[in-house]
Amino acid sequence: MTIYADNAATTRLSDAALQAMIPFLTDNYGNPSSLHSVGQRANEALTAARESVAGSLGAQPREITFTSGGSEADNQAIMTAAALGAKKGKKHIVSTAFEHHAVLHTLNKLQKQGYEITLLDVHENGMVTPEQVAEAIREDTCLVTVMTANNEIGTIQPIKEIAAVCREKKVLCHTDAVQAVGHIPVDVKDLGVDMLSLSGHKFHGPKGVGALYCRRGILLSSLIEGGAQERGKRAGTENIAGIVGMAAALEESVRNLADNMAKMQRVRDRLIEGLGEIEHSVLNGDRAQRLPGNVNYCFEGIEGESILLLLDDKGVCASSGSACTSGSLDPSHVLLAIGRPHEIAHGSLRLSIDETMTLNDADYIIRSVKETVALLRGMSPVWRDLVSGKKEFITK
Ligand SMILES: *Cc1c(COP(=O)(O)O)cnc(C)c1O
Repeated sequence: MTIYADNAATTRLSDAALQAMIPFLTDNYGNPSSLHSVGQRANEALTAARESVAGSLGAQPREITFTSGGSEADNQAIMTAAALGAKKGKKHIVSTAFEHHAVLHTLNKLQKQGYEITLLDVHENGMVTPEQVAEAIREDTCLVTVMTANNEIGTIQPIKEIAAVCREKKVLCHTDAVQAVGHIPVDVKDLGVDMLSLSGHKFHGPKGVGALYCRRGILLSSLIEGGAQERGKRAGTENIAGIVGMAAALEESVRNLADNMAKMQRVRDRLIEGLGEIEHSVLNGDRAQRLPGNVNYCFEGIEGESILLLLDDKGVCASSGSACTSGSLDPSHVLLAIGRPHEIAHGSLRLSIDETMTLNDADYIIRSVKETVALLRGMSPVWRDLVSGKKEFITK
């Protein structure tokens, strides 16, 4: 038996996506740039997918650029705003301490090139506020980039209000909405953002494909030089099967959004309640302002890696943070950003569910986590010190 609870890392390809992709991996193998009929069939599929993705987001088709995924979309959005800013002598960027590394590492690169970066502190509940953004914006600010939903702790940020602040101050606003698109309602016009990143494999589409929404009137700079694909903003023969699969997955996710959200919230809440019964545990991220599929706990007195391996033995696939940081021994930058001390940031568990998870699955997970935490604490010298009073508990 396997219960997959790591959907924030990646999701299963949906049948709708697979079926949509197959023709473009077999008979319809044309290059959309070719003038003959085989190529033109691929080009028509590309056009239809662009219209579909745009429609799912409330955007215009020409505002959608297909990329190789969320990371590339984040890179391109930030590099575009940085280049536009530099032309006006504006080289200050506002972001947050708990962004995805696709954002943070791009900002690091820009910092080395002479840009100034302000990373906003994140409140203990995993939220940043529009007021913080307003205070951080300066005369020379060219971009504000704040994620819509955090990939580790699932908190949903007030992007509409943040975008309004940016508009008033005439600063470009980008959001990494990779965890949000297909999971909660996302409408670019309603949000009022200038740029928004998404990734196919986070909503049951294929890996290696994503998109960047860029509001009309903003000239994207390209990261990849070559042919004139994607209106000259992203060279390279298009990943037609991937793009078509992503569009199909997104359509399906958006169509079933309300239903799926309700299903997931029920299971999520069961997990949050059940795991909350474990003594000296703490829920990471705001209880209410969070993704329907995210549960993230710290358990004092244990190490994250061992809990994951033991849970895997019981058939539960979970994560201690983002897939990108697991494997390194540093505690998650997200948990540190919300002020969790190293000691407990190490003992974190992220369960990210999809709409197929049942309450029975949740109960099995709760039992498995309780057993595992008890087992690990029984062997933990840190736990012994805590219980004997040699060390003080951080959690209640
Ligand atoms: C997964 C993820 C990304 C990266 O997307 P890829 O398609 O894997 O490159 C970026 N930001 C967030 C918040 C993510 O969860």
